Amino acid sequence: MRPGSSAGVSKRVAMTSLVSFNPATGSTVGEVSVTPALAVLDAIARARAAAPAWGALSLSERLALLEPPEERLLACAEELTALVTAEMGKPTKDAGGEVSWVAKSFVETCREIAASLEPEVVSQGSLRSTIHHVPHGVCAAITPWNFPVMMPHSLVLPALIAGNTVVFKPSEETPLVGQRYAELIGEGLPPGVLEVIHGDAETGRALVAGGVDLIAFTGSRTAGVQILSSASSDLKRVILELGGKDPLLVLDDADPLAAAKFAAKNGFRNAGQVCVSTERVYVAESIAERFEEALAQIAKEIVVGADDVEGATLGPMVNARQKAHVVEQVAAAVKDGARLLAGGEDREGNFLSATVLVDCTHEMGIMRDETFGPVLCVARVASDEEALRLANDTPYGLGAVVYGGDPERAERVAARVEAGMVGVNRSCGGAEGTPWVGAKQSGYGYHGGPAGHRQFAVPRVVTVRT
Ligand code: NAD
Repeated sequence: MRPGSSAGVSKRVAMTSLVSFNPATGSTVGEVSVTPALAVLDAIARARAAAPAWGALSLSERLALLEPPEERLLACAEELTALVTAEMGKPTKDAGGEVSWVAKSFVETCREIAASLEPEVVSQGSLRSTIHHVPHGVCAAITPWNFPVMMPHSLVLPALIAGNTVVFKPSEETPLVGQRYAELIGEGLPPGVLEVIHGDAETGRALVAGGVDLIAFTGSRTAGVQILSSASSDLKRVILELGGKDPLLVLDDADPLAAAKFAAKNGFRNAGQVCVSTERVYVAESIAERFEEALAQIAKEIVVGADDVEGATLGPMVNARQKAHVVEQVAAAVKDGARLLAGGEDREGNFLSATVLVDCTHEMGIMRDETFGPVLCVARVASDEEALRLANDTPYGLGAVVYGGDPERAERVAARVEAGMVGVNRSCGGAEGTPWVGAKQSGYGYHGGPAGHRQFAVPRVVTVRT
């Protein structure tokens, strides 16, 4: 038995240090010091002191300091990949994909962000207004663990390029990856421009309550609610990317096998620990049996295990708490009448099998609350209208997908799904330059695309008569 495997493992935050465990093996990966509340304020003060000079640089001067990390990231890609796999458990192939995407597009991303922050001129008669995108000041960047490189990257980089200084708190599950990312980005930046602090929600709360100007957060809806509430006392600006409960609508003219393949890919990737994982499936009755059989077959063939297990594509849950949450949701659904077509068995350590539940009803907790695990829940529907009604009856609205044989009909259905991003016969992410955005309680503000990048800055309109 692997160390720590029987009971599962979780990171532990002691008073002064944060011990990082490998969720697959239970072995210690490393340790960082927890930043005490007073030291959080010191980090904010250093970032505050650095803000005027950093904010006064031109976009091209900031780019000159922020483009060199691409080479460092590329040179350290293997090391960073290994650290991602060790700290949060995703297979090397997936961890490598995440690191390589960030590293290879680094300079391009910097330039794209900078381009959207160039001043814009608007003229009306003799009036000429220039919209300058000026920095907020100090930005708190707080991130989750599920994409421990990509998530910090999508907040820290636009904040810095927009001229803010940043106090970055990586997830307590992936502090070493966060630290390394910040070292690679921060080398060569003036002191105080990028500060890193460590700890769990308590440290995050101290940061949010401290004297920052902008809070850029990606994580759970629960934490988002707390952050918005705390930020309201002095109207700090917030950008919140939160959780989801993404539906997949499989229309009656869809190819059931293609839809099942997509559901499995999008539901079990990263062990289901993706904000836009497919969690609920509404399938037309006429093709439901073929869809469910195909899905169960694919799920049964998925090899579960640590990175060194031959053929394993489904890694561990990040910690024992997350596993227990998924196991409880599945057990409650089965008790309420859902049928297990695949998976569902309790495995050693933090592992779970790819699980397919059918005969799910709208009242079940597993159809309403975020699971964040490798579980696909299927409900049969009599019409597109019923699928839309059920898919939309949720406080969440991050991503969604519609599968159908007639793309135009599927697109019409997609336009009625209440989500920030809806894919037709593909995943929900949009074309280059579109924002990553959640509707309803899946987001408050957003990032990505020119409009998203500009949220890391404040518009200042200067008008002259010509
Ligand atoms: P989490 O909310 O528990 O923690 C996220 C980060 O916030 C961590 O760094 C944590 O220490 C900190 N934190 C927690 N409570 C806080 C508080 N009250 N004040 C300040 N900081 C606080 O989320 P998680 O478990 O790390 O990540 C999983 C969640 O993130 C899921 O809900 C998932 O859907 C969501 N997520 C969303 C997106 C998106 O783009 N919308 C992307 C990835 C993950």
